[in-house]
Amino acid sequence: MAIAIYPGTFDPATLGHLDLISRAAKLFDEVIVGVAENRDKTPLFTLEERVEMLKQAANGLDNVSVIGFNNLLIDCAREYNVDTILRGLRAVSDFEYEFQLAAMNRHLDPGIETTFLTPSESYAFLSSTLIKEVASLGGDVSEFVPPQVIKALKRAYTNT
Ligand code: ADP
Repeated sequence: MAIAIYPGTFDPATLGHLDLISRAAKLFDEVIVGVAENRDKTPLFTLEERVEMLKQAANGLDNVSVIGFNNLLIDCAREYNVDTILRGLRAVSDFEYEFQLAAMNRHLDPGIETTFLTPSESYAFLSSTLIKEVASLGGDVSEFVPPQVIKALKRAYTNT
């Protein structure tokens, strides 16, 4: 029984995140999407909103669950008996930070591995930050985010 946790801010979830989740769902017995509260950045959506949008988007995947967490990732991973932390690697620019994070997490608990997956090429340049930038200026991002996120972005930026 291999269990993976996929942590992130998911502010908001994109089809890149969902691409990774569905790949992971085929590889692991159980995938837990861990939505980090993230007190450093100020997220556009609340933790509850981010969890709810991901739950709806991952609805068809039986072995995927979505949780919110605000403690240390390694502690959360231990709580759920996780075998590996899953992270996405897009371009080379992700590499250095992800390498540091993986080393730190290994230092904190050598028993928990980090696994990297790459998304489909069409999502390799996608980030939540870019989505927010474009949506805030009225651009169409509907090809890159799940339907519930499109609605939430409209509400957030146009108050409708
Ligand atoms: P964080 O604040 O931890 O970077 P994100 O929600 O931005 O949180 O990302 C969570 C994880 O998803 C990270 O491992 C990131 O590399 C990965 N990720 C983000 N966007 C994509 C994408 N378009 N394709 C694949 N992986 C992605």
